[in-house]
Amino acid sequence: MDNNIKKDIIFVSLFLLILANVFVWQFILSLDGNLKVVFFDIGEGDSAFVETPQGHQILIDGGPGQRVLTKLGHAMPFWDKTIDLVILSHPDYDHLSGLVSVLERYQVKNILWNGGLVNNTVFTNWQKDLAIEKAQVFTAQSGQVIKAGQARFLVLYPLADLAGQSVEKESNNSSVVARLSYGSSDFLFTGDLPTKNEIELLASNQDVASEVLKVAHHGSKYSSSPEFLAVVNPQLAIISCGANNTYGHPNQEVLNNLQNFAINTLRTDQKGDITITSDGSNFYYKQ
Ligand SMILES: [Zn+2]
Repeated sequence: MDNNIKKDIIFVSLFLLILANVFVWQFILSLDGNLKVVFFDIGEGDSAFVETPQGHQILIDGGPGQRVLTKLGHAMPFWDKTIDLVILSHPDYDHLSGLVSVLERYQVKNILWNGGLVNNTVFTNWQKDLAIEKAQVFTAQSGQVIKAGQARFLVLYPLADLAGQSVEKESNNSSVVARLSYGSSDFLFTGDLPTKNEIELLASNQDVASEVLKVAHHGSKYSSSPEFLAVVNPQLAIISCGANNTYGHPNQEVLNNLQNFAINTLRTDQKGDITITSDGSNFYYKQ
């Protein structure tokens, strides 16, 4: 009897030691001094995961359905159920739905969104979860800076405070646009911002120039005007869209414009998850 108990204790101790090693290694491996941005292959929608050199974890949009939970399960250690910041670009299903599941499964410390109102079940659940979650909630407006160690987000759009206003009719117009910077690497996240709002953003004279552009609205023809591409002047464009989607995303004209500007373009429907790392001077991605 005594021997059996001893064996059990030794087994438990060994198991804990092995587990501790795994934890330590995962922690060390995740802090390699690089910024990592993963554009999830989430189907027809948007979801990107950011890990800063100091280990901050940030999720921008959650895509449709619950697929983001599997993606986060791979991107984060299994024991880690805390996310430092969630950004919702705008309250459309293909950006919001997964975030509702994320709020239910993860402890989210900070939430940034445009505060605009729409009328559907997913949005009602989002509002319920916002009320329960013990997160600091911020309404996005141009000029805000979010520091995450050496990385930082600058909010560029919307230009006005939309909190409590209905954005039901033209939700895309309310998209939060934010630029993530680490050293000389800038990533521009555009939500589904349409061209008329791109022009409004350019007219605000904020610096939108970025090495990496998350192409707005899954490559729709109503976004990514040549004027906007010229000023952003990215080296790399990411299109997040579903394989064989019914919207015809990405639009051929947008693809042609990207090619005319010699912007290398990667698509989640063709490449799967796209991971880009930056050491603060250069950025790298797997082809
Ligand atoms: Zn969308």
